[in-house]
Amino acid sequence: MKKNHLHLDTQLTHLGRPVKSDGPGVVNTPVYHASTITFPSITAQEAARRLRFDGMSYGRNGTPTTFALEEAIAGIEGGYRGIVFPSGLAAIAAALLACLRTGDHVLVPDSVYGSARKFCTNILPRYGVEVTYYDPLIGAGVAALLCKNTRVVYVEAPGSLTFEMQDIPAIAAVAHDHDALVLMDNTWATPYFFRSFDHGVDISIHAATKYIVGHSDAMLGLVVTIQEQYLKVREMTAGLGYTAGPDDVYLALRGLRTLGVRLARHQHNALVVANWLRARPEVAEVLYPALPGARGHDIWKRDFLGASGLFGVILKPHSNAAVEAMVDGLDLFSIGASWGGFESLVSFPDPGPLRTATRWPATGPLLRFHIGLEEPADLISDLKRGFARLKQTAAATA
Ligand SMILES: *Cc1c(COP(=O)(O)O)cnc(C)c1O
Repeated sequence: MKKNHLHLDTQLTHLGRPVKSDGPGVVNTPVYHASTITFPSITAQEAARRLRFDGMSYGRNGTPTTFALEEAIAGIEGGYRGIVFPSGLAAIAAALLACLRTGDHVLVPDSVYGSARKFCTNILPRYGVEVTYYDPLIGAGVAALLCKNTRVVYVEAPGSLTFEMQDIPAIAAVAHDHDALVLMDNTWATPYFFRSFDHGVDISIHAATKYIVGHSDAMLGLVVTIQEQYLKVREMTAGLGYTAGPDDVYLALRGLRTLGVRLARHQHNALVVANWLRARPEVAEVLYPALPGARGHDIWKRDFLGASGLFGVILKPHSNAAVEAMVDGLDLFSIGASWGGFESLVSFPDPGPLRTATRWPATGPLLRFHIGLEEPADLISDLKRGFARLKQTAAATA
């Protein structure tokens, strides 16, 4: 039964599950550990080979566990097919390599995820691909940067450190006018909160490591494409030898089942904490597009169905020592760089040095919070004590 007409929550519950005829009636697709796939005859093996990426031929090309996740994510995002990767970064790298060749040009937002930026800066040019970073707020103005050889306009919204909202429909319209593809890192919103293909994206990329796995215990990447772009990404993935371990694929399928309820709660909790932070005297600005009046709120409201639990806070100027006293002493926020798990996190990044096309304008320290599924009142009490330490340390060193 095709389930793509069903509501997203119903799809999250039902896609990628075994069908009745599959066997013993288990609810979840089992974990297949396999390298060799055996066949009853040479003819059967040849037939499997001819199917290429559809069906089992060799463990690296996927098993029913992999196919279940690929089917589920494609259905949920409303794309043609999904492809599983061993990490989000692997998905980004393979998608870019699939779309670019020597002599091509790619446009990348200055706010792009740091490891994706390293790939674009350090690796793509070695293969003769020219990379230009652009102001993420450029919108339709990206037209001025498109060259004859621009094959890809990469987008990510909001930026996962600095939270610029990109006008993706405007950028996509210009890109398509120039025959360039739009590749998006949709990790922050997930397909649950951003319908990438309805907004002009051709290839949607997810660090499933974050909200889809959702429990900070597995690395995984996913790509979903429109039909025209599928085969080349699949072929590049196979050509590079990317494959994901079946247990991790299973964890992503498991995570997917609760993505909707988790995201709704992450959003709710993040709004409570962000609103509280916004009113604090130590805070200069909260970078959370879901907050009315925040930067990017209008675009977010127009294009997104919701917000995840990751946002930034620019503090008024404070010494690093004061910020560290605040952050190091937090009980409920672990210090860590990843996000999307059930638990709250904080990090103290410096986005300035990464930039080349724009200047990071903040005059105070940036904290990035991931708001987990804890009771927000407890998180707020923890942060309140943190602000007391900030103040104390600032006074002591003044
Ligand atoms: C974490 C992350 C990635 C990379 O995912 P990995 O699974 O860690 O390789 C890509 N994009 C964004 C926005 C991320 O936060």
